[in-house]
Amino acid sequence: MSVFNAYMALSGAVDAEVARDEPLARRTSYRIGGPAALRVTAHSYAGLARTLAILADERVEWVVLGRGTNVLVSDEGYDGCVILLDGEFSRMTVSAEDATITAGAACALPTVVNAALRASLSGLEMCAGIPGTLGGAVSMNAGTRREWIGRRVRDVVSLRPGGGLVRHEGGEVDWGYRSTSLPTDEIILEATLALAPADRAAMTADMDVRLRRRRSAQPQGLPSCGSVFRNPPGDESAGRLVESCGLLGATCGGAQISPEHGNFIVNRGGATAADVVTLITLAHDTVLERCGVDLACEVKLLGFGR
Ligand SMILES: Cc1cc2nc3c(=O)[nH]c(=O)nc-3n(C[C@H](O)[C@H](O)[C@H](O)COP(=O)(O)OP(=O)(O)OC[C@H]3O[C@@H](n4cnc5c(N)ncnc54)[C@H](O)[C@@H]3O)c2cc1C
Repeated sequence: MSVFNAYMALSGAVDAEVARDEPLARRTSYRIGGPAALRVTAHSYAGLARTLAILADERVEWVVLGRGTNVLVSDEGYDGCVILLDGEFSRMTVSAEDATITAGAACALPTVVNAALRASLSGLEMCAGIPGTLGGAVSMNAGTRREWIGRRVRDVVSLRPGGGLVRHEGGEVDWGYRSTSLPTDEIILEATLALAPADRAAMTADMDVRLRRRRSAQPQGLPSCGSVFRNPPGDESAGRLVESCGLLGATCGGAQISPEHGNFIVNRGGATAADVVTLITLAHDTVLERCGVDLACEVKLLGFGR
């Protein structure tokens, strides 16, 4: 594997920008993490396909990142290439006629949600207030515990490395709570969302309630990745379990289990990934010991394997 060869081959050769030793802290909502050996921002399908071919030739591992709102990057960083999408992957078409929105994976999810509201197209209200990109949302099946974006996906176009473009019908994908059956080695490029005409005032009211609930229950103003753990099956919530163990406000370095919400770990300034992992482990192990619940992480870890 040669990151240097990949960097040289990618420099100026494709419709993509390339950088070495890219600091990832500024690419994640946690504001934590070391550098990626390489970062490529692909502006077109051709640029992306060429990037993947070069990375495969040079055996450089890669991962695609949206806005990094569900990712914790290790303090050592990532010894591969982080791929970002932009350019033609940021296009969006709203069709009021057939009640659909087709948007590129790089579109900000809040932009898509707002476009749906402006066009009086209902179905994405549960995504109000969720940061990140459409690609990240489809990959994570973002939403609430009981409603998620997958239910609105009519189809997804993705790039299968070495296999070209693939189209997945939304109805053929298994969508579950923060999970999908979409192949994890594919890069989501675009999704079409099937919505329903609705009364805009009613939609606005619904979204206001959801946003108010979110603001009153979740910590505001400090970097985080949203929920750290998935909620366990049943009605119990990960946040309540952590709280019941007396862990609200527990601190390690610059990281803290939010005093307002047991499922949020916030960066109070200068937190390291190691600080966050210490608190994740503390919460997980304490809840397992005292409540018998084996919480699973929702946040994706990057660069911890080396
Ligand atoms: C304050 C806050 C509140 C949040 N609230 C919620 C909530 O209510 N509900 C919820 O579901 N989530 C919530 N989240 C988590 C997060 O916003 C979502 O998971 C979001 O959908 C992630 O999008 P992203 O673009 O940031 O993806 P990233 O964090 O960059 O990536 C997440 C995963 O998706 C993959 N991915 C990203 N783009 C693509 C692509 N184009 N193709 C293939 N894979 C891709 C990445 O490889 C990674 O595995 C919250 C986060 C924060 C910070």
